[in-house]
Amino acid sequence: MNMHRTPRRRRSLPVLAAAATVAAALTGPPARATAPVAPAAPAAPSPGAPGLGDPLLPLDGNGGYTVRHYTLDFDWQAPRTPFAATATIRATATQALSRFDLDFAGNVLRSVTVDGRAATFRRDGDELVITPAAALADGRTFTVQAAYTADPTQVRHRDDAISDYGWIPTPDGTVLYPQPNGAKMVFPADDHPSLRAPFTFRVTTPPGLEAVANGRLADRTTAAGGRVRWTYESGQPVTPQYVQLAIGQFTFVDRTGPHGLPIRDAVPDALAAPTERYLKLTPDHVAWLEQRLGPYPFDRYGVLVGDTDLGVALETQGLALIPRADLLGTRVNAEANMVHELTHQWLGVSVALKSWSDLWLSEGHARYYERLHSEAHGGDSLATAMRQAYRRHDQWRHDAGAPAEPTEPDLFRKMRYDGSALVLYALREKVGDTAFERIERAWSTRCRGRAAGTQDFVDLVSQVSGQDLSEFLHPWLHGPTTPPMPGHPDWVVDPVAE
Ligand SMILES: [Zn+2]
Repeated sequence: MNMHRTPRRRRSLPVLAAAATVAAALTGPPARATAPVAPAAPAAPSPGAPGLGDPLLPLDGNGGYTVRHYTLDFDWQAPRTPFAATATIRATATQALSRFDLDFAGNVLRSVTVDGRAATFRRDGDELVITPAAALADGRTFTVQAAYTADPTQVRHRDDAISDYGWIPTPDGTVLYPQPNGAKMVFPADDHPSLRAPFTFRVTTPPGLEAVANGRLADRTTAAGGRVRWTYESGQPVTPQYVQLAIGQFTFVDRTGPHGLPIRDAVPDALAAPTERYLKLTPDHVAWLEQRLGPYPFDRYGVLVGDTDLGVALETQGLALIPRADLLGTRVNAEANMVHELTHQWLGVSVALKSWSDLWLSEGHARYYERLHSEAHGGDSLATAMRQAYRRHDQWRHDAGAPAEPTEPDLFRKMRYDGSALVLYALREKVGDTAFERIERAWSTRCRGRAAGTQDFVDLVSQVSGQDLSEFLHPWLHGPTTPPMPGHPDWVVDPVAE
């Protein structure tokens, strides 16, 4: 499909406008003008935009509507067997729509209805273009239902830290790795990190297997033939990249975190005993992070242990996926991974990204707190790690862009992890520990449940610290070379090798 908007290198206005709309939708109904105005003629229906115009992934997300709720009905069979699936999406039009898009990749699409009437559809790359039988008025809430045969082997590859993403088959089931934009391989989605809606998951499994997904187990019934039907309600809205739905022979381990927070781990049966010595530390990790970032932002948490060779974990909402190897080695390594994914529940998941160029805020914070915790629990000192990152920083700028200037292929590179934790470390050295701690708590609590971006962070830093730090932060975040590290005049940057 042709782009309706020209991608721009820096964050574009359409993204900000869309994110602002989402933030408004999350915090309450939009303010309405109260002054009497002459009624305007309604705009003629037109197509919704095929993407939000994110500078890095311009076709991700869609224009013309806001998703209110997703329901996924999956009749799951076996790790590599296609199965019948239905996605039911309730949405509200934000313009008069002649047609609209969803993000959807692969699978075999059978039928699409809008409000129960057959709709015409075509597929154009990863865009599913739907034309309802009649145009949809601005403000109308409508229901799209897509029936398809799902392919649970569908996976894509990135050359950065993500590696494989999409459906990840396990020996007896599956786990999901949707980041960055793999949700569309699982269900038709409005898939951008700034967008979220509540989910209902209704999954049937063969006898002897368990299913787990984001949120609360609302119902579990056994049908004829011994198949089990599992219903999970996310309750709180979920960004598509943080959807989790896993099937396997799981042991559920229940714990209680601070203030009675329910914690339920889902662990493949054979891994339950060997991972318990680390998994039991989660309540301590929650308490440690609450001291720094304020109250845990969701109504439950748990670790899903992935029975896979996956190289990286993922902060799926309220149920972080951590591959088995991360929980079978040393305590320092296991806690680093656990604290990293748990930090994301505040920063990355609850405080979501306005655009992909803001990824440094999510990964930089997770790496910073991972290392801060590690320093106090047997790992390397934060200063040692930051000094090493400082040495490499010009090289990383050259290879993968400044922290807030990523290119799409180099999004999940070290610059967004240690290279961005280094920006937070520089800020701490500049303003001092007390002011830094106030900034961090303000960021995680004020932006809770919203999408927020780099400029929002810079503005908040200046406001909370009481000094204009935009000129200090700009070269750190956007410049071609690494600025001096406050308080460490002896730190040096290695020359760049081409
Ligand atoms: Zn991370």
